[in-house]
Amino acid sequence: MLGSPSLLVKFAALSLVLMSVLGVTLSFQLARIIRQRSLATNERMAGQLVAFVANLATVGVRTNSNGLPTVQQALLLRHSFDAYSEQGLASGVDAWTPNGTLSYSDDPVSIGSKLPMPAAARASLAGARTSRVITSSTDMHLQAIIRRDGPVFAIYVPVRLGVNAPILAAVAMYMPYRPIAEAISSDTRTASLLLAVCFGLLYLGLFHLVWRASHRLRRTADLNEQLASHDALTGLPNRVLLADRFGQALRADARAGTTTGLLLIDLDRFKEVNDTFGHHYGDELLSQVGPRLAAVLRDVDTVARLGGDEFAVLLPDTRSVEDAVAIATKLRAALETPFHVHGIDLDVEASIGVVLAGEHGKDPTTLLQRVDIAMYVAKTQNLGVFAYDPDIDRHSPAKLALLGDLRRALERGELILHYQPKISISTGHVISAEALVRWQHPDRGLIFPDDFIPLAEHTGLIGPLTRCVLDTALAQVRSWTDADRPLGVSVNLSARNLLDERLPAQVAELLATHGVPAELLELEVTESALMTEPVRAQRLLEELSALGVRISVDDFGVGYTSLGQLKTLPVSELKIDKSFVMTMTDDRSNALIVHSVVDLGHNLGLTIVAEGVETEQALSALREFGCDVAQGYHVSRPMTADALDTWLHARTILPVQSADTATPHPPPPRPRLPANPSHPAVTPARSQPDAPNWSG
Ligand code: C2E
Ligand code: CA
Ligand code: CA
Repeated sequence: MLGSPSLLVKFAALSLVLMSVLGVTLSFQLARIIRQRSLATNERMAGQLVAFVANLATVGVRTNSNGLPTVQQALLLRHSFDAYSEQGLASGVDAWTPNGTLSYSDDPVSIGSKLPMPAAARASLAGARTSRVITSSTDMHLQAIIRRDGPVFAIYVPVRLGVNAPILAAVAMYMPYRPIAEAISSDTRTASLLLAVCFGLLYLGLFHLVWRASHRLRRTADLNEQLASHDALTGLPNRVLLADRFGQALRADARAGTTTGLLLIDLDRFKEVNDTFGHHYGDELLSQVGPRLAAVLRDVDTVARLGGDEFAVLLPDTRSVEDAVAIATKLRAALETPFHVHGIDLDVEASIGVVLAGEHGKDPTTLLQRVDIAMYVAKTQNLGVFAYDPDIDRHSPAKLALLGDLRRALERGELILHYQPKISISTGHVISAEALVRWQHPDRGLIFPDDFIPLAEHTGLIGPLTRCVLDTALAQVRSWTDADRPLGVSVNLSARNLLDERLPAQVAELLATHGVPAELLELEVTESALMTEPVRAQRLLEELSALGVRISVDDFGVGYTSLGQLKTLPVSELKIDKSFVMTMTDDRSNALIVHSVVDLGHNLGLTIVAEGVETEQALSALREFGCDVAQGYHVSRPMTADALDTWLHARTILPVQSADTATPHPPPPRPRLPANPSHPAVTPARSQPDAPNWSG
C-alpha cells in the first residue's frame, strides 16, 4: 500500500530514476532531430542559393567552347558569391562540368583544372543532391577554406535548366559549419532545458498526485481500521480489538509470568432507560459509560463495548482473583453515580463477571465463555460481582439461588454464630470457643458454612462476612466478660481475607469498639490459605500478631506446610486436622502423625490442638501423646451462645466425664446451679445445636 512513507519514498526515487532516464533519452533524440532539421534547412537554403546563382549564370549567357564560363559570366558569379559570403552564408564554391573540368570556383586559380572530382560531385552529376560536414580534406582549396573558416557544411547540387533538362554542372557550396553547430547546440540546450523543466514539473505534479492519493488512501485505511476495531457509537474498542489485545496480554503473561483479568459488565436497568426515554437517551448514556470506567482504571487496561449494554474490561498484570474482584467492585461503584443525560439523572446498575487467566482458563475463548457465565450468575442472582467458580456448572439451581440471598442475609443479620468449646486436655478447663458461622435462612432453615463460604469468597462478600463474624464474636466476648465469665474466641479467616490489607485495621477497630483485649481473640488460618500467597499472608499475620491477636494454623496436616516454615510465621497454635484425629484410634499411621506433630510442635513452642475429638478413646490417646487442647463432638458440638452459657454453667457443677476423669481439677469459682448429674450437657429449649442428638 502507498500509505507507508517508506513506500512513498521508494516510489519517488524510482520514478525519479525512470523520469531521468526518459528525460536523457528524449533530450538525445531531440538533439539529433534538431541537428538533422538544422542541416536539412541549411542544405535547402544552400540548394536555393546554388539554383539562384546557376540561374543567374545561365540567363542569356553560355559557357564557351571548353565549357568554362565567360569572363563576364565568372564575374557575375563571383559577385553573387561574394554577396553570400559577406553575409556569412558561404565559405566557398566549386562547380564541375560533366566532363570533369572544374568550371568554376571561388579560388580563381583552380578554374579550368581537371583535378579528381569528389565522389559527392560525381553523384550530383548523376542527379543526387547530398550534403556532409567536412572537417579535413586532401583538396587544397577545401584545406584553405577549413583553415580560414573552420569545418564546412558542403552541399553538392546538380544544376539543370528545367526539371527534365540535362545536368549542366555539379555545384558544391561550402557553408561555414561553426555558426550552424552553434545554432544547433544552442537550440539543443534550450530544448533540453525546456524538457528538464517540463519533466521536473511533471514529476512534481505526479508526486503530488501520488502523495495526495496515498494520504487519502491512508486516511481511508485508518478509518476502516477504526471502524473494524472500534464501536461506532462509543468509540471504544470492539469485540475484535478486545480479542486481539486479550491474545497479546496472554502472550505477555506467558513471557513475564503475569496474569490478566477480564471483566464482563452488563448494565442492569438499561432497557428501562431505552424504553422510557428513547434510544437517544440510551445512546448518550452508553457513551458516558466508557469514560466513567476509564477514570477508575489504569492506562494499560482496555474498556471495550461488546454490543448493547455489554462492556468488557481487560486488566493486564492482575495478581489475583481478589484484585480483579476489587477492581470490578470499584467499577460497579463508579457506575452507581447517576448519569446526567440531556438534563435528566439516570440510574443504572451493573452486574460484573470476573475471570483471571491461568486460574479460570488459558485461552481467550474459554475465558470469554467463563466470564459470560460469571456475569450471568452475577446478574441472575443479583450479586453485583461474581468471579467464575469452576463448580458453578455443578451447582444446583437451589445453590445458585442462595448466592442471591447472601448479600441480603448479611444486611438482615441472618448470619448467626455457633460456638464450639476448646478444652484443656490436662485440666478439662474450657479455654476458649471457636465461632462457627451459620446462616439462618428464612425458608431453608439452618445452612452450614461449607454451603456458602466458598460462594461468599467468589462474590467479594467474604470481607463483609468476616467482619460481621468478628463483630458478633467480639460482642459475645464482651458480654461474657461483662457477666464475669471471660472466655476467648477463635474466628476463622478465609484465604481471601489474608489478601485484604485492610483487615488488621478492621480487627483493631472492632477490638476497640467492643473493648475486648486482643489476647481474647484468636484467628484461625488454614495451611492452604497461608500458602496461597505466603509473602502477603506473612506480612498481614505479622500486623495482626503485633496487635496482640493470637494466630492458629487450622486443618494442619492436610497441606504441605513444613514445621520449619511455621517457625518464621507469628503462629502460636497448631490445630491437627480432624481427618487424622477422627481416625487415629483405628489407623496407626494417623496416630503416629498426630503423635509426631504434637512432639515437633512442642519443640517449636506451639500449643497443639486436636479437633474432631469424637470419642473418649481418642481423648485418652491425645492425653498420652501430650496434646494440649481438645475440640470435638465428644466435648461438645457447636451451639448457640445461650446454649454454651448453659453448657458452661452445667459443667461448673459436674464437669464432663471425659475431661474430668483425665485430670481432676478444681472447678472454676462459678455460681452453683442444680443440674442433672447423668446428663451434664443439657440442651435448653432455646438453644440451637448443629445436630439434634448431640452430647457433651
Ligand atoms: P473448621 O474451621 O475446621 O471447623 C471445624 C468444623 O468441624 C466445624 O464444621 C465443626 O462443626 C466440625 N466439627 C467440630 N467437631 C467435630 C467432630 O468431632 N467431628 C466432626 N466430624 N466434625 C466436627 P462447620 O461448622 O460446618 O464449619 C466448617 C468449616 O467452615 C470450618 O471448618 C471453617 O473452615 C469454615 N467456617 C466456619 N465458620 C467460618 C467463619 O466464620 N469464617 C470462615 N471464613 N470460615 C468459617
Ligand atoms: Ca477452624
Ligand atoms: Ca479445622
